[in-house]
Amino acid sequence: MDKTISPKVYLIGAGPGDPDLLTLKAAKLIAKANVILCDRLVSPQILREHAAPNTEIIYVGKECSKKASTPQSLINILMVNHAKEGKTVVRLKGGDVSVFSNILDELKVLKKHQISYEIVPGITAALGAAACAGMPLTARGYATSVRFLTYYTSEIVSDSHWDELAQTSDTLVFYMSKGNLANLVEKLKERNISSDKKIAVVEQATTPFQKVYTSSFDEFHRKLKNRNFLSPSLVIIGKTANLHEEYSWMQNDGQEGTYFKSVENGSLITNSQNFIEYAV
Ligand code: SAH
Repeated sequence: MDKTISPKVYLIGAGPGDPDLLTLKAAKLIAKANVILCDRLVSPQILREHAAPNTEIIYVGKECSKKASTPQSLINILMVNHAKEGKTVVRLKGGDVSVFSNILDELKVLKKHQISYEIVPGITAALGAAACAGMPLTARGYATSVRFLTYYTSEIVSDSHWDELAQTSDTLVFYMSKGNLANLVEKLKERNISSDKKIAVVEQATTPFQKVYTSSFDEFHRKLKNRNFLSPSLVIIGKTANLHEEYSWMQNDGQEGTYFKSVENGSLITNSQNFIEYAV
């Protein structure tokens, strides 16, 4: 590596979907980037609007439900090699970088290679969904705290944790959990979760295709159990989920579609030939 070059990687949160929910700092850094390693849940419009025309954009998406993911080891190699060539590298992730992401793996690798970095926060999906569904997560009288959880596999929450989750007055926001929703609802019903709490599923939050489905625990079986929610979806549980009915403001005019494209067979998609050298 040329000693005069000090490599740097910017790990940036791109927000939950709506391309205008990007920070100014993120927009400025994206415009400066030579290489962008981009996740699946990033609005394509962000790249069209802010990346310079000659920026190399490499799609390194993960879609675990489809078993089609760019291996983390490959993402790490791409990040390190491009930075060592003296390029300004942006690692762009959906939502916020530190919420349910692999950022720690990436930080470890950057430290190991003595590559400096900056972390730029983004609006996480829970906050985007709460705003666009009219569901303030800690509304006074409804909840005093909010928790971000996941239940993508059944081992992740223990029985004693379910007992406590059924009792708490906190708003519970579950990421990556639509596939286990029926099971999640069952766990809470078995523990007599209070009937004044509701379940809300916010599909494609903040995008033109956003849809919000709500149900009581008693109605869940009839209303939502057999619905195949589109990706990405977030599950919000608590008294605050009742507020959507009165305070929702976002119109979606019944538009149907998927905002984020699927990851293709786990392969990288790039706008240049260079990535081939790095393929492992
Ligand atoms: N770092 C991201 C979360 C990554 S985990 C963040 O801070 O938002 C991916 C999960 O986030 C998805 O499975 C889904 O549960 C949630 N998610 C991300 N974007 C979303 C959106 N626009 N609408 C609903 N859920 C979303």
